[in-house]
Amino acid sequence: MAFKIIVCAKQVPDTNEIKIDPIKKTLIREGVPSILNHDDANALEEALKIKDQYPDTHITVITMGPPQAKDLLIECMAMGADDGILLSDRALGGSDTWATSNAIAAAIGKLGGFDLIFAGRQAIDGDTAQVGPQIAEKLGIPQVTYVADFSIDSDMKHITVHRALEDGYEIIKIETPCMLTAIKELNTPRHMSIGGIFDAVKKDMPVWGAKDLGVDTDREVGLEASPTNVYRSFTPAPKGKGIVIEGDTDKELADRLLINLKKKHVI
Ligand SMILES: Cc1cc2nc3c(=O)[nH]c(=O)nc-3n(C[C@H](O)[C@H](O)[C@H](O)COP(=O)(O)OP(=O)(O)OC[C@H]3O[C@@H](n4cnc5c(N)ncnc54)[C@H](O)[C@@H]3O)c2cc1C
Repeated sequence: MAFKIIVCAKQVPDTNEIKIDPIKKTLIREGVPSILNHDDANALEEALKIKDQYPDTHITVITMGPPQAKDLLIECMAMGADDGILLSDRALGGSDTWATSNAIAAAIGKLGGFDLIFAGRQAIDGDTAQVGPQIAEKLGIPQVTYVADFSIDSDMKHITVHRALEDGYEIIKIETPCMLTAIKELNTPRHMSIGGIFDAVKKDMPVWGAKDLGVDTDREVGLEASPTNVYRSFTPAPKGKGIVIEGDTDKELADRLLINLKKKHVI
């Protein structure tokens, strides 16, 4: 039986190109190119490496977003994923991380069985790193986040990962089915192939809405069901100019620093 991998991938604005509206202080999204979230490209690459080694592997990419998120699925399939599912519906719009993970977990449930779920650690726009762990919780499967190295035994059951920590890593053994979230140290994502692009654009791409997912639009998905409220969003005011203390000797520098700190009543 095929080894089934699900990759969760999000289309995000290319942040290098983001501009802030100077008056409204909000992101200017018009004309900003969208890209496959970086960590999600690493998640997909690791799934593709498993498929390279064990061809009887099936990779399904799931994304939730507006209709244009279909371009992301084409990109993922052109890289080598077998198929893609777009979760797109007005009723899903305005979902926070909790509601997003409800929708994605419902989609995974509908697919009926998997061995491994790969997500990115974090999306570069929302930046919460919550969606992967929330999906695992909702599906009741074990998870390891911050995966920087991955290997799977030929029994396709036992996985060993390096989980990155601030000052090193821990080695964790985990069994399928499970959820892993990838970071950029895991691998270097491959490019799309020309043949892959031709095949991908011809493929059927199911679009599932709230009804297909069987989720409650009042309580599980969408803005109203989302427990998070954004009260204000702003760009922090730039900090004042720093003071450079100059002096010829260490003692002179220390004395001047002391005088400055006393002046400011820090000490
Ligand atoms: C009140 C509220 C309203 C919102 N309304 C909207 C809205 O109308 N439109 C909108 O675009 N955003 C909206 N958002 C933002 C949206 O909730 C988040 O973008 C989304 O939940 C993902 O969170 P994140 O970006 O922090 O992802 P993270 O948790 O940082 O992502 C971790 C990983 O989870 C996976 N993942 C995350 N999101 C998706 C996805 N959509 N599809 C597939 N995989 C995914 C990826 O693998 C990703 O690397 C809203 C947020 C709030 C709080």
